[in-house]
Amino acid sequence: MENQNQNLRTMISETPQKTGQKVRLCGWVQTVRSHGKIIFFDLRDRSGVIQTVIIPKMPFFEQAKEVRSEWVVELTGTVNERPANMVNDKIETGKVELFVEGLKVLSKAQTLPFSIEGDGYDIGEDHRLKYRYLDLRRKRLHDSLIFRGKVNGYIRDFFSKENFVEVETPYISRSTPEGARDYLVPSRMDQGKFFALPQSPQQYKQLLMVAGLERYYQIARCFRDEDTRGDRQPEFTQLDLEMSFVEQEEVMQLTEKMLIGLIKATAPGKKIQAIPFPRLTYAEAQQKYGTDRPDLREDKNDPDLLAPCWVVDFPFFEKDKDGGWTFTHNPFSAPKPEFDGDLAFGNNISEIVAAQYDIVLNGWEIGGGSIRNHRREVLEKVLEIIGVKNIKENFGHMLEAFSFGVPPHGGIAFGLDRLLMILQNEPNIRETIAFPKTGDGRDLMMEAPSEVSAEQLNELGLAIVKKPAAN
Ligand code: ASP
Repeated sequence: MENQNQNLRTMISETPQKTGQKVRLCGWVQTVRSHGKIIFFDLRDRSGVIQTVIIPKMPFFEQAKEVRSEWVVELTGTVNERPANMVNDKIETGKVELFVEGLKVLSKAQTLPFSIEGDGYDIGEDHRLKYRYLDLRRKRLHDSLIFRGKVNGYIRDFFSKENFVEVETPYISRSTPEGARDYLVPSRMDQGKFFALPQSPQQYKQLLMVAGLERYYQIARCFRDEDTRGDRQPEFTQLDLEMSFVEQEEVMQLTEKMLIGLIKATAPGKKIQAIPFPRLTYAEAQQKYGTDRPDLREDKNDPDLLAPCWVVDFPFFEKDKDGGWTFTHNPFSAPKPEFDGDLAFGNNISEIVAAQYDIVLNGWEIGGGSIRNHRREVLEKVLEIIGVKNIKENFGHMLEAFSFGVPPHGGIAFGLDRLLMILQNEPNIRETIAFPKTGDGRDLMMEAPSEVSAEQLNELGLAIVKKPAAN
């Protein structure tokens, strides 16, 4: 047993428990220092950093002199306690060091294009994104990815305990009217036709309710081809859920419970200002704060204060720029029951209130949902009011599904990137995403979007029309 264990790789964070033992460590050489004749490497792996010591007597000493920052090495040796005056309280392994008895260079590294030591905010973002895989080596972003993984883990655990089923819905789908522009995917088999990447799993999750699943959730990617708008990403992640046989209250209470639990489990340093979360109507929020996403923090200088609130009772419709009616949130929302009559007859359209609820955190909208319109004829009326052309062609599948026995249902979706951004006090959502796009929607690392070959275009039956040069 002993012998076998010696061959296992030890994570650097485990070294303080292994004083006097022989270990094998693997990782990146963070810094190289020569003190007199002795060489010190600070070795880094995912779990931490440890000081390692190489003395001239070692047969690999000359090779060790060649080693530079960010080379990947395997070091074997003995974990020793550091003398009391050499203890470094700033790192978790500060009481120990590795006395190196074997060195193997696993790969060399050229000088990195930027330093990965600090938090990196001072480095041009385009530069960081071009070499994102190096940027992600910095501790702040490393920790951010680990945090995100923990949040996803908490979510899965919570919803599975609440009897939800995690279902993956398609990414190659049909163009849907959710307010943003779709990303289109040309069909090769059916030239001239297009798939669209989903703006959200909205229709699929409702169809899962028709399928009798009753409780669905998913950590889902959403795609929206919007013009550059500050802190938006062309693809972003939602925590999406839907429930059958529920009223607004139940969806709100369950999501509130989830959010409180998530904050306590993953960000225990944060303080939630008020539980249960305060609730405001849209009208109250507008009147008191002049916005439908009020920042209710009592002390806005406290980076660890969270002030979530609900905003409810949104107007269902608003005028669009051409003077017609459009939906404010979601065409599939139900009206609040007391507005059923108005909706059925198309009366007082501007007064109709939707069974819609948004969750706002420190002035950011982090989620929104509604009780849906499960009555086919009412849904048809909504589509008529907002002037959807070709209702049958565009929504026939939903209307038909709703004719086969549909449970009343409702749900909500959280913008997960934004929630993570707030919990980690980051200035924008790009800092929470492993491989984000730039503000203008490009991937500088992969150099996307990119041109494709004439063969690829031919296969799709597409031709590029060059824009006439601007004069
Ligand atoms: N699908 C909606 C959205 O993306 C959220 C919901 O109503 O569940 O905003």
